[in-house]
Amino acid sequence: MNTMKIYDIGIVGAGPGGIAGAIRAKKHGLNFVVIEKGHRPFQGIIDSYPKGKKVYATIPKGETAPFPIEALAPVPDKLPVEAYIDQIEALVIKSGFAICYGEDFQNIEKRGDFFTITTQNRRFQTRFVILAFGSNIPMDLGVYGEAKTIARSLDNPEDHIGFPTLVLGGGNAAADVVATLSGAKRKADDPTPVYWGNMKEQFKVNKDVARDLGEEILVGGHIRILQGAIPRIGEVDEEGVDRLTLLTQEIDAGNGMILKQAMSFPMKHVIACIGTQGPAPIFSRLGLQQITCTEGVCRIGKEGSRLILLTGNFQTSVKGIYAIGGAVSPAYIEVQQEGAFKERKHTNLIYTAIKDAICAVDDIVSKSTQ
Ligand SMILES: Cc1cc2nc3c(=O)[nH]c(=O)nc-3n(C[C@H](O)[C@H](O)[C@H](O)COP(=O)(O)OP(=O)(O)OC[C@H]3O[C@@H](n4cnc5c(N)ncnc54)[C@H](O)[C@@H]3O)c2cc1C
Repeated sequence: MNTMKIYDIGIVGAGPGGIAGAIRAKKHGLNFVVIEKGHRPFQGIIDSYPKGKKVYATIPKGETAPFPIEALAPVPDKLPVEAYIDQIEALVIKSGFAICYGEDFQNIEKRGDFFTITTQNRRFQTRFVILAFGSNIPMDLGVYGEAKTIARSLDNPEDHIGFPTLVLGGGNAAADVVATLSGAKRKADDPTPVYWGNMKEQFKVNKDVARDLGEEILVGGHIRILQGAIPRIGEVDEEGVDRLTLLTQEIDAGNGMILKQAMSFPMKHVIACIGTQGPAPIFSRLGLQQITCTEGVCRIGKEGSRLILLTGNFQTSVKGIYAIGGAVSPAYIEVQQEGAFKERKHTNLIYTAIKDAICAVDDIVSKSTQ
């Protein structure tokens, strides 16, 4: 007997789109679950906005309507991001929403009338799905074997005290994590190093980040740099620990012999800050139809980019699955009722994500009552 709770809607992502979807679903009396890989509402904004950035309540050109859910607009306009997140968090707590934090969405399967949404830990059964995971999808590590448990940002430096830790990536985000982690270990008198592995030979960091990192090294930070270090295999060792093996050097020993030097880290002590990609690979994996832009077909999308096919209400080519907000920006293809395709410019704004969510939930309500 299936005893799993069945939700009307599974919302993936607790950004402006996901939280707006929750507010609207609650208003309609639907039961829903929000699945968020981070630990706070608007985690995507927390991760991508610079500290102290002012949040603008921008309304797209040509739109006259105010913010469709006023409580989600920064008040006052140009509120620093930290205060905006506090505003949203208070709203979410007051609303009592069921948000499952720390759950990284992996897959959706349809069986009969229900979808099963899978995360790394759990499964959720839902009648409808709204994909509100934004546009900042972490790049795949591209290693053989399962490496999904590797963190993409530094949640808590304390978790790594006493353990050698590997930070992967050659940019500002990785450098920031290396400096923060090294500082935390130093203050805790922890002699274990922070390894900074970059697949390329060159690091690309801005002056401020380089200065912070330089200061950390000068005051005794224990940082080891691994250039040209390539993650190779994700595997489970004989003690059942998920490990990532990093190839650090290859030496041609002659006669067809190659000497390889590698390091292996438990995945829970690896943080991969290797950049982001758009959601097109996820849409493909879920079997949601997309069109590849070629000259003459798309005016907004870049040549070679893939644009998702959506109805006017943001339903994808798989009935019951909707995609909204940053995930479908900067453009998508609208499939109109008479079967015509129209390329739609879609601004990536808080306002737009909220409006999309309302439209999708209202469509779900109209379908549920049919
Ligand atoms: C630097 C910067 C400044 C900006 N400034 C403004 C501004 O001032 N005003 C404005 O209107 N807009 C601004 N924007 C745009 C605005 O932030 C986005 O349009 C908006 O956040 C999109 O909302 P969303 O809910 O679609 O996606 P997001 O905000 O990206 O939220 C997606 C959520 O899904 C979660 N998620 C992602 N993958 C998974 C997964 N696999 N499993 C579970 N959860 C997942 C993320 O952690 C995140 O919390 C700015 C954007 C940037 C990058």
